Amino acid sequence: MRAANLMVGATLAEIGKAVRPGVTTSQLDKIAEEYIRDNGAVPTFKGFPNPCGGESFPASICASVNDEVVHGAPDDHPLQEGDIVSVDCGILLNGYNGDSCYTFSVGETSEEVRLLLKTTKEALYKGIETALPGRRIGDIGFAVQTHCEAQGYGVVREFVGHGIGQKMHEDPPVPNYGRRGCGIQIKNGLCIAIEPMITMGSPKIYMTEDRWTVKTRDGKPAAHFEHTIAIHQGKVDILSSFEEIEKLEK
Ligand code: MG
Ligand code: MG
Repeated sequence: MRAANLMVGATLAEIGKAVRPGVTTSQLDKIAEEYIRDNGAVPTFKGFPNPCGGESFPASICASVNDEVVHGAPDDHPLQEGDIVSVDCGILLNGYNGDSCYTFSVGETSEEVRLLLKTTKEALYKGIETALPGRRIGDIGFAVQTHCEAQGYGVVREFVGHGIGQKMHEDPPVPNYGRRGCGIQIKNGLCIAIEPMITMGSPKIYMTEDRWTVKTRDGKPAAHFEHTIAIHQGKVDILSSFEEIEKLEK
């Protein structure tokens, strides 16, 4: 699990090196697919069946720009200065899945967008800190939700984190909202992906015509950060990594 997730982190770092005004999300997808296959892994998003009855997913990454919340299909539209792009990536390596997402800034973004990204990433770590043996899944959602709503942000309800292992999506669902003390109990050996999807305005979303890309209804930007973690020996072990990405941001 760690090897798969570190490879996702390395793939996202390759993308981070390429994100700049003028680059297209199709170009980012190509970088990701090549990196993943060159390293002997399989991109799990490519060909993923569409739960809404549309075409299967066409690419190795989801690239969601500005008001796109999740599941953006890469295209030939160049990124612009001040955009944000959430890049979600999943791979299969030696029978195990990695899944992680990072929201990148394209050039300089506005102060309010920077605060959205900072708060969403903080919320991810608040959720992670909570995921200790004996706690419950609702504790994670509560931690994420209260952190983001305190800043006036919206917490998307329709998409949630998930168990992960030999399949990319396993039980239990891991919502980014919830009540303390509710839901299944967290135990050693559990592997989950925690992935807050946070909006600057209302959390209301809609599905676009491609049956994949999800956008905010009010057109305001959304951020998405995701780590895969293991609960192991009474502690939380973050299996994916933003370390290489964050080096690029310094
Ligand atoms: Mg993901
Ligand atoms: Mg996920």
